[in-house]
Amino acid sequence: MLKKKRLFTPGPTPLLPEAQVAMSAASLHHRTAEFRQLYTRTLADLREFIGTANDVLLLASSGTGAMEAAVTNLTSPGDKVVVLSAGKFGERWRDLAKTFGCAVATVSAEYGETFAEGTVEAALSEEVRAVFVQATESSTGARHDVRAIGEAVRRRAGAAMLVVDAITGLGTTRLAVDEWGVDVIIGGSQKALMVPPGLAYMAVSERAWRRMEETSSPRYYFDLRKERKAAAKGESAFTPATSLVAALAAALDYLREAGEGSLAVGRDRLVDNAEGCAAMTRAAAAALELKLFAPRSPAAALTAILPPAGVESGKIVAGLREQFGAVVANGQGEMKGKLFRIAHIGYYDYLDTLGVIGALEQVLASLPNGVELGAGLRAAQRAYAQGVPESVAAR
Ligand SMILES: *Cc1c(COP(=O)(O)O)cnc(C)c1O
Repeated sequence: MLKKKRLFTPGPTPLLPEAQVAMSAASLHHRTAEFRQLYTRTLADLREFIGTANDVLLLASSGTGAMEAAVTNLTSPGDKVVVLSAGKFGERWRDLAKTFGCAVATVSAEYGETFAEGTVEAALSEEVRAVFVQATESSTGARHDVRAIGEAVRRRAGAAMLVVDAITGLGTTRLAVDEWGVDVIIGGSQKALMVPPGLAYMAVSERAWRRMEETSSPRYYFDLRKERKAAAKGESAFTPATSLVAALAAALDYLREAGEGSLAVGRDRLVDNAEGCAAMTRAAAAALELKLFAPRSPAAALTAILPPAGVESGKIVAGLREQFGAVVANGQGEMKGKLFRIAHIGYYDYLDTLGVIGALEQVLASLPNGVELGAGLRAAQRAYAQGVPESVAAR
């Protein structure tokens, strides 16, 4: 049989055809009225997509570049910061903050878990200058409660900047960025926005802009104040990734159309879509007697699943790729071989979700313990028929 290559990875994600066309058609010089118009519109659309009144910036880098920018712009060497870490991306915050000389206190949760009640609050005090966390930890499939973390920060560490890596959270999770007191929120082009890797975007609060005037960590390419100045004129500080900006503009247009003229509605539908695909996948896993890696606080961005006992997850990853062209992610770091991850971020639909579940059943059926073909598919179809539970839709 033919094998179409399909990505089910938590970044990069499948490309939106309209964005690919826009990208290949773009032949732009960045110091022109044409580009300034495109850039200005894209920043305004991103602001609506994020759902913030704060300034939005675009950087030509992967998501980690914006994470580094948050650290260097908001901290000085020696600053006391708190990192909330429950996986590989939480550890990236810790490493970044240490690299730039912060005094890091880490609140850890085990891989697959989120932070136990009270543990975040206990680590906070008025001396804390910044708090770093993920909205969704892509290495484990767990969702963190950004609202509760924001409340704790405001109660106990009023001066701290709250910085949220929502690189897989944006477009998969309801995030009331301004209401929850998020000072910096970060996204990446290769996740829910359905374009290739290469752009990071971030919203920055007024408080954060003021903080940048006092901090002394070294920064040059990622000096956000330079970007803000340039953005006000419809430009970027350095040569922008023009074709990716054209792709991003097309993706945001697609979401506005999906929201019948409202980008915010289109974004909410994209979030509901991810929630729906995730609910179908979790139902299928349960029916196939596969355990979830993050059952207590599962993200809609991706579902991390344990293989059957005695099976290396790499076997499932390889089976899906070799037999069906379906690319799912293995575990990262110490989790390699122990779990596999199916993403629901961005341009996925019902058929993609049933497709990967059907393929997973075929792969499982070829293993020693086998599986009843159709059991996962049936559970996923039932989950779809029931719709997304209200409690999830309202989050
Ligand atoms: C993808 C991802 C990143 C950023 O990775 P880059 O490779 O730098 O784009 C950071 N955090 C999370 C949670 C992610 O999923």
